[in-house]
Amino acid sequence: MNHHDTPPDTILIVEDEPKIARLVADYLEGNGFATRHLDHGDAVLPWLEHAREDNAAPDLVLLDLMLPGTDGLTLCREIRQRWPRLPVIMLTARVEEVDRLLGLELGADDYICKPFSPREVVARVKAVLRRSRAALAPATTTGSDLVLDDDGWRALADGQDLGLTAVEFQLLRVMMHAPGRIFSRDQLMDHMYRDHRIVSERTVDSHIKKLRKKIGEVWPEREIIRSVYGVGYKYQPEE
Ligand code: CA
Repeated sequence: MNHHDTPPDTILIVEDEPKIARLVADYLEGNGFATRHLDHGDAVLPWLEHAREDNAAPDLVLLDLMLPGTDGLTLCREIRQRWPRLPVIMLTARVEEVDRLLGLELGADDYICKPFSPREVVARVKAVLRRSRAALAPATTTGSDLVLDDDGWRALADGQDLGLTAVEFQLLRVMMHAPGRIFSRDQLMDHMYRDHRIVSERTVDSHIKKLRKKIGEVWPEREIIRSVYGVGYKYQPEE
């Protein structure tokens, strides 16, 4: 929302197709967002560095996969590493591409397939911003000796960094907020991605599996993420 006392959220659009960039920018601006546009992959990281220094960092990046210069995959990884709290929505040309992207665990917050309606883009942008802000609200979440550091997207078990990916961190975070509550795979997917059609339940299972493995490396005796047969998963710190 664009009130005069709060600056509008700024969306960086990285897209080499001028028509698409213009269309998306128009819709976002019509919905109260400010936009910036880059059309070359090589320009993105230096631009973000400068924006950060000038205190003009964007609130979200819409990132095309196929770009001249540095490609979207590389950029997404770099952004995740250097600015872990900056949400990224990837724009891809094909639905089939999304499964592969998810497998690569780039840490993008959402994926939108071309061709898309600009209205869909606005809805996704709003949803991702809402979600990432909700996820960052409290500074730390504690479950006995497991601590989530929201600023650094880290989970510490007995002070030891579990080295979680963004998706694993989110999954753990969602479950830790309601200990003992059983989450279906569907509900967990809701917290991960907006578009159910493109994420299979197996994707959730494989992220959970990796999450449990990482916790198990620190606490081999404890099983704090439990699977509930036929239903889903829950966080259960105590017996
Ligand atoms: Ca392109």
